[in-house]
Amino acid sequence: MLEVEKLNAFYGPAQALFDVSLRIGPGELVVLQGLNGAGKSTLLKALMGLELRAEGRIRYQAAGGAAAIEHWETHRRARAGLGYVAEDRRLFSALTVRENLLVAAGRDAAQREARVLDMFPVLKALLKRPAAHMSGGEQQMLAIARTLMTHPRVLLLDEPCEGIAPVLVESIRDALLSLKREGLAMLVVEQNQTLAARADRLLWLVAGKVRGSRESP
Ligand code: ATP
Repeated sequence: MLEVEKLNAFYGPAQALFDVSLRIGPGELVVLQGLNGAGKSTLLKALMGLELRAEGRIRYQAAGGAAAIEHWETHRRARAGLGYVAEDRRLFSALTVRENLLVAAGRDAAQREARVLDMFPVLKALLKRPAAHMSGGEQQMLAIARTLMTHPRVLLLDEPCEGIAPVLVESIRDALLSLKREGLAMLVVEQNQTLAARADRLLWLVAGKVRGSRESP
């Protein structure tokens, strides 16, 4: 579904990724690990076409066929089905949960909202609450839920479980596993073992290079 070949990425003159190659198929969960500064967030940004200069090939296969998307603008990648949740979540803090969801919605908003709330039942009780008045874990669920309103085929998540209460980590894991069963492809930066233990594949980044890959038993 997503195939990356020899991706190099640069912040100005400084190179942050070196010949990174990977592939994620439909229904696969790939977890990306590495120390601080290894380039994990950079890889997700490069796949979305954000913030930095990237060279290399990114092939994306969706219902409409396969395309080389490395020169596409970010909004076009998003519209084609790449969903991204940044580490800082980028919610509209003054807007309510429902408003945050609807900002992202297309024509089938009501139906989609119902589906997304089934996946994150915690949010159902909070629909009228401003995002600013939620816990970190609840905000993380909302950020993922908002991205799901756009019908992504590939999810790119940056540390969804970091700093979150264990019970909410389990809810996030269960939601991601149900999306996996629906065929979403997922690349998730995550040190938390609750999620990593369920990955099809672990990728280990060291100083901008893939230095290890492990298939799940
Ligand atoms: P962390 O776990 O700390 O988020 P990471 O593995 O996600 O680490 P990145 O944030 O991708 O690492 O950073 C990779 C390298 O790129 C680091 O050396 C970092 O200093 C550099 N870098 C990241 N963002 C920028 C930026 N906006 N401008 C310049 N250099 C950057």
